[in-house]
Amino acid sequence: THFGFKTVDKQAKQGMVRNVFDSVAQKYDVMNDVMSAGLHRLWKDDMIRVLRPEPGMKLLDVAGGTGDIAFRFLKAANKRTTEDQTPAEVTVCDINAQMLDVGRDRGIDQGILHNIEWVCGNAECLAFPDNYFDAYTIAFGIRNVTNIDKALQEAHRVLKPGGRFLCLEFSKVDMPLINKIYDAYSFHLLPRFGEMITGDRESYQYLVESIRQFPPQEKFKSMIEAAGFQRVTYRNMTTGVVALHSGWKI
Ligand code: SAM
Repeated sequence: THFGFKTVDKQAKQGMVRNVFDSVAQKYDVMNDVMSAGLHRLWKDDMIRVLRPEPGMKLLDVAGGTGDIAFRFLKAANKRTTEDQTPAEVTVCDINAQMLDVGRDRGIDQGILHNIEWVCGNAECLAFPDNYFDAYTIAFGIRNVTNIDKALQEAHRVLKPGGRFLCLEFSKVDMPLINKIYDAYSFHLLPRFGEMITGDRESYQYLVESIRQFPPQEKFKSMIEAAGFQRVTYRNMTTGVVALHSGWKI
């Protein structure tokens, strides 16, 4: 690659992803705030707004890590739920048990104990029945998955007909000047921040590289369509630093 990193083969990637999140689990949330200057919170809030959580809704949040999407979802759904209504439920699925442990602790700290399940598993082979969930979310997770097409097919399988797929992911900036600044930031500063806070520069170099290698908006849209989703759309946030893709199982 132009950064001089080796291109990793698929199996090595899976192992590397596990190590990256093992090594950063405890400091992951702090790092998110530092690296995105708090913007990740707004991007995630936006995703939840688009999802429109409702009473009784069953969400699967894949690569759910330390629970940011799940907590936002439950809080938004519970606000709209009256006593006689079935509460919304969320299942957080992540390949890394340490991220899930941090998430569970954060949930307890915030008093979120009910209607949430933490499941260790791989996005490529989900241990859930067909046609089960009303919605599937994945935030900053899909670029880490080794076989993205397989993960998309699994998303389609576990959703009910009428169910919605939403994916938040780093994408391609569509303004040349901002792109230059963003490039300089992510190549020079981001791994340094990573090293300062977690003592682990390599993990953050991997993260930068994984962002570069992820397909741009239109290409990713066609991958979602190829998995069987319909009415696939996306919208850019912060000039394309992040994109939110949406699709429906019909
Ligand atoms: N969704 C959370 C958020 O937005 O804060 C966490 C995102 S974090 C950048 C990426 C997560 O993807 C990590 O927790 C990692 O363990 C998980 N992950 C990576 N590969 C995965 C896979 N194949 N299946 C499930 N989770 C995976």
